[in-house]
Amino acid sequence: MKIMFPKFDKVGMPLLGIAAAVLFVAEAKRQLRRRTRPKIERLLENGSVAAAALPALRLLLLPGMYAAARQASRYEYGLLRWLRLPRWARNVAGFLLLDYTNYLWHVLLHKSDLLWRFHNVHHSDLDLDLSTAWRFHIGENIASLPYRGAAIALIGVPAPLVLFYEVIFEGAAAFHHSNLRLPYPVERRLCRVIVTPRMHGIHHSIVARETNSNFSVIFSWWDRLHQSLRLNVPQDEITIGVPAYRNPQEQTPTHLFMLPFERQRPWQLPDGTVPEREERHPRQQLLP
Ligand SMILES: [Zn+2]
Repeated sequence: MKIMFPKFDKVGMPLLGIAAAVLFVAEAKRQLRRRTRPKIERLLENGSVAAAALPALRLLLLPGMYAAARQASRYEYGLLRWLRLPRWARNVAGFLLLDYTNYLWHVLLHKSDLLWRFHNVHHSDLDLDLSTAWRFHIGENIASLPYRGAAIALIGVPAPLVLFYEVIFEGAAAFHHSNLRLPYPVERRLCRVIVTPRMHGIHHSIVARETNSNFSVIFSWWDRLHQSLRLNVPQDEITIGVPAYRNPQEQTPTHLFMLPFERQRPWQLPDGTVPEREERHPRQQLLP
């Protein structure tokens, strides 16, 4: 299995590093939602979760997805090959379909009890910012390999596109998890095409109906297509996190690592109430 991807490591990673550095400074200067916990504590916690997940991403998931693409190409397998599309159309369609399959995977992470155990680690962050973009349990990365590999083979995604898509995918995740306050008119237009910080902030709300919306990663179209788009929540009214996991004492690296293997708590606050919110605006209207 090919492990070395010089273009990904020498061009893609530094570009992602620059994007992350810009976002890190920008989100501190123009804060979207109020922080509830000290930034340094969360950086350490999220960093420790990422310290296991990122090597798995680079050394297992990425080579695995690339190998799936190469195998499919060897056997002339996959939808885009059967359609005999020209190269440019295969790349465009491949990029869009990959993004669509990742929308479906994200829905699955929320609908499957087993997968949710791992995705819960990501959602149980009590604030949402750039560092949340890498707070994924290693188990979630490993679990995604059979799905993402199969999707790549079935679609017939060209192998280089797998690497290109991954760079854009990681960049998009860094952007929409960030706590960056974009000018409201800019974001209102932007979220018609791509997932933005306000849109994804609603996905991290403790209100179940809000968490179960906005699953898209790069393009926001998939949520429009499946009517899972919800923009009508004011950011200053959002409480970030999962209701039953609100104790900062439990945000230690060991607790977070073990969380998928423990009994999962029901979707309610420690006092037994279920968070709710009245809908006062049309669902597709982005609020400041
Ligand atoms: Zn999610």
